[in-house]
Amino acid sequence: MAGTRRVVIVGIPGVGKTTVVEHIVRILKSRNTGVRVVSFGTEMLEHAKRRGIKDRDALRKEGRDEQERLQREAAKSISVIDSEVVVIDTHAFIATPSGYYPGLPSPILDIIRPTHLISLTAKPERIFSRREQDKSRTRDPNSISGIKRELAIQDAMLSACSVHSGSPVMPVFNRDGEANDAAEKILRSVGL
Ligand code: ATP
Ligand code: MG
Repeated sequence: MAGTRRVVIVGIPGVGKTTVVEHIVRILKSRNTGVRVVSFGTEMLEHAKRRGIKDRDALRKEGRDEQERLQREAAKSISVIDSEVVVIDTHAFIATPSGYYPGLPSPILDIIRPTHLISLTAKPERIFSRREQDKSRTRDPNSISGIKRELAIQDAMLSACSVHSGSPVMPVFNRDGEANDAAEKILRSVGL
């Protein structure tokens, strides 16, 4: 696992993480590079389901102790994945009534040890309409001003992750219809 690139991709809901990651996987597979993708939320959900929490949108409404336990369990599962590239699709923060919790608090960074941090972003107007069009998910109320605030919090959270882990942050734009370009930029930034 020493040579594994553990690439954490963060982005606010609807920015297009899952879409861009699908392109990354396709590109790497075409080059015969080993890749595993984990959604941090899905990994947490696997552990959460055993405790009766039914979906990922209910997950972030759980109490802090439960969140932290599930985060640690998910991080441990991810840390033992042995592949040339491990892509971790996650959020820089989780909005709760008490404020914004870090998606990657220090203990979690210490377990995962990311080699690269990617901050996926897009124009607030585009994120707004992607959320409106994507009816497959249950999301919080949507507004341009809220999206701008979330993008600012994402930057702040990811700077802290970079300082803590010593790993570089690369901001990547996911332009409309150009998710493949975003994927290529991410691969270049991790040296692939
Ligand atoms: P979440 O954090 O909620 O999982 P996400 O960041 O993974 O969200 P996606 O599910 O990948 O976001 O994308 C949200 C919507 O935006 C989807 O309908 C997707 O098809 C669309 N989308 C993503 N990237 C682009 C793009 N570059 N151009 C046009 N549409 C896009
Ligand atoms: Mg997603």
